[in-house]
Amino acid sequence: MATINFDNKLGFVEYKPDPDDICSLCGNNAGRDRLVEAKNDIRICEGCIDVLTEIKDEKISKRNEAAISEIMAIEEKMPDSYTPYEFVSAIVEDIRAGKVSSLTFKY
Ligand SMILES: [Zn+2]
Repeated sequence: MATINFDNKLGFVEYKPDPDDICSLCGNNAGRDRLVEAKNDIRICEGCIDVLTEIKDEKISKRNEAAISEIMAIEEKMPDSYTPYEFVSAIVEDIRAGKVSSLTFKY
């Protein structure tokens, strides 16, 4: 619930938004319906979620590009003639050996 401060000496009404309507990231008064609530009273507005989604997508894209580059480097080390099975095996081997830094196997 918003509160109005009548203490302002000039007679203007100072608007104080309800803290539950404020985005924890950008500080905008987004309104409760447009906030996603998380632990510890953290509320994130739809605009910030869009920005976070873009940041996440960019990070995934960079990781994918790095993985493709590293896998292409494996392909360059293959003999002149190889089967798809041999190529995939080489990729899996290098990933397991930790030679493809952008990809890790979790056992
Ligand atoms: Zn925000």
